[in-house]
Amino acid sequence: MARVSELYGSMVFNEHTMQERLPSVTYKRLLKTMKEGQPLDLDVANEVAHAMKEWAIEKGATHYTHWFQPLSGITSEKHDSFLEPLGDGRAIMSFSGKELIKGEPDASSLSSGGLRATFEARGYTVWDPTSYAFIKDEVLCIPTAFCSYTGEALDKKTPILRSMAAVEEQVNRVLALFGEEKQRVITTLGAEQEYFLISEETYAQRQDLIMTGRTLFGAAPCKGQELEEHYFGAIRPTVNEYMKELDDELWALGVPAKTKHNETAPAQHELAPLFTNTNRAIDENLLTMEKMRLLASHHGLVCLQHEKPFEGINGSGKHNNWSISVAGKNLFDPGADPMHNLRFLVLLAGVVQAVDDYQELLRMSVASAGNDHRLGAHEAPPAIVSIFLGDELDAVVEALTTEHGYESSDPIEMDLGVEALPNIIKDNTDRNRTSPFAFTGNKFEFRMPGSSVNLSDCNMVLNTAMAKSLKEFADEMEELQVTGEVFEEAALAYVRRTLKDHQRIIFNGNGYSDDWEEEAARRGLANNRTTADALPCLVSKKTEELFTEFGVLSPTEIFSRYEVKLEKYNKLINIEALVMERMVQRVYLPAINNYASEVAQNMTAIHNACVTADLHSQEHLLNRLVKGISAINNRLQDLYHIHADIADMKDQQKRANKNAHEVIPAMDALRAVVDDMENVVGSEHWPVPTYNEMLFYV
Ligand code: ADP
Ligand code: MG
Repeated sequence: MARVSELYGSMVFNEHTMQERLPSVTYKRLLKTMKEGQPLDLDVANEVAHAMKEWAIEKGATHYTHWFQPLSGITSEKHDSFLEPLGDGRAIMSFSGKELIKGEPDASSLSSGGLRATFEARGYTVWDPTSYAFIKDEVLCIPTAFCSYTGEALDKKTPILRSMAAVEEQVNRVLALFGEEKQRVITTLGAEQEYFLISEETYAQRQDLIMTGRTLFGAAPCKGQELEEHYFGAIRPTVNEYMKELDDELWALGVPAKTKHNETAPAQHELAPLFTNTNRAIDENLLTMEKMRLLASHHGLVCLQHEKPFEGINGSGKHNNWSISVAGKNLFDPGADPMHNLRFLVLLAGVVQAVDDYQELLRMSVASAGNDHRLGAHEAPPAIVSIFLGDELDAVVEALTTEHGYESSDPIEMDLGVEALPNIIKDNTDRNRTSPFAFTGNKFEFRMPGSSVNLSDCNMVLNTAMAKSLKEFADEMEELQVTGEVFEEAALAYVRRTLKDHQRIIFNGNGYSDDWEEEAARRGLANNRTTADALPCLVSKKTEELFTEFGVLSPTEIFSRYEVKLEKYNKLINIEALVMERMVQRVYLPAINNYASEVAQNMTAIHNACVTADLHSQEHLLNRLVKGISAINNRLQDLYHIHADIADMKDQQKRANKNAHEVIPAMDALRAVVDDMENVVGSEHWPVPTYNEMLFYV
């Protein structure tokens, strides 16, 4: 174990290292910036830069980079060496406070949704001292925010920091009403990351996987996940080796990778870290995803992070465990008696209101072409947002919104019937895996995000919507100017009213059932099934009011995000359609034709050898193949037409609508007829690895 404790965080310029390496006055001033958000002087920055560089060089680093998250969601980096020539043929390694604080990448090719036209390419990266710098592949990586010349956020980090500040301010107002002092408030995040691992060998033979990250064709495997043997099953040796290396690399980077296990689908796995500050947790999740992809090749594997690499079995999500913490204490901890924990009830009502009022925006925050395949496909929550509270809190809400008395569900001892086993106390929040937003004891688990998404968007929405609910509460209570019991009564009345007003969002049943879709429609809950349907909410008046009220996004920043999301969706569908067309034309049709002509030649050969031979079954097969070829051709022509129809459409929203409602159905139809042939064509003629081959490797 000594090894792990030595390894952990060894590549991170964390507080421990800072304390060791910085003069104590500098360290204290830096801590003030990190913990209290105080501005940083250049002289402090200079000392920090120097210490960072010395530390990094000792660890073998030669370059540094401002590490940032443009609107594409993945991270960007441009490496600069520490090298500074002295003019006499020698050089030293140098790194100044200025270089630490600000960078100027030429980022004109990064998507910005029109925020920064190419002729005005300037963008700045600005050091985020609240997330640690780290060394990755001999490069000192400095987490930074990325903004335009005119100060607009061009990235995912800036709005998350702004939304955390909004929560902090409003939580402190609420705490003040409860007589508590101003404190540091952060939101916390634990991101459970799902992924697939397949062999490099099969991957390399699939153009669709290489180009789009998912299989655009493939008949269902003979065995899927119905035997439920993979979930938590023993981990196969190749994968185990991979996971070990991944843990080591992540631990060195200070990422607290904690849990790893096989997931539901064959070849699917999950990694969950310990939760931390949302801003840092998002950085860590991006690092984790990057390491997952890169390390796979050491083991002859490829890591697939697409939401739906394989049809017919579960896709991958990224559960977003969210909470708010005040000076290290979890605000969503209900305590032993939630019914009489007024502060908790105020927060609970705040969440219920936030999720109800901004359900469409939350849905929007996880919208992507990939995730559209998961939501509502009976493997992940539907596209309808609702909250699951569990028995205990449900009883509390019931008591507060009706005249019924409160019946606490006392902890029940479970007797396992075996004397040697200790009896355990049953959790009073049972799990409901079908809910998109579930209370899980002391945090909320938002289960809609897809595996490849950057979690900033949904946390930005959650935080800002929560700030809005709490602001309403604080405004109303402050105006009353009451304290003590009178305040408590007023606050309780507020909680009752809010819970009643937003009760429709609470749903404890089975989120996968068709009945729920109907029931949700009756309740007036939104059900935006596709990204094209979900995105317009981002540019609604209501969204603009929310984000501008809390200074999280300006109208231009909102619009640029909308444009980037729309364009990305349209581009992805375009690529998928192109790959399908090409694969059908150049890979599948020739293969099926070859097989058909082989069957035909065999028939002639058999007939020549034996005129009386019964060729019925061969004829039947040949007919099926020829019909299949013609069906594929027809569907291919349909897709060409629909696809060509929208090629020149300038209006991206209209184009997205066409993609969602016409192009994708045409792609599905084409896939169906190709997959049908996979079950008929001889295996040596089938041109690509099948699901059986890809999912069940050793
Ligand atoms: P599962 O949902 O698979 O049962 P766990 O309950 O073990 O998983 O927790 C899932 C994630 O929730 C972990 O990353 C954990 O660190 C995180 N988590 C636990 N408490 C909090 C919290 N207060 N805030 C945010 N995330 C949390
Ligand atoms: Mg979970």
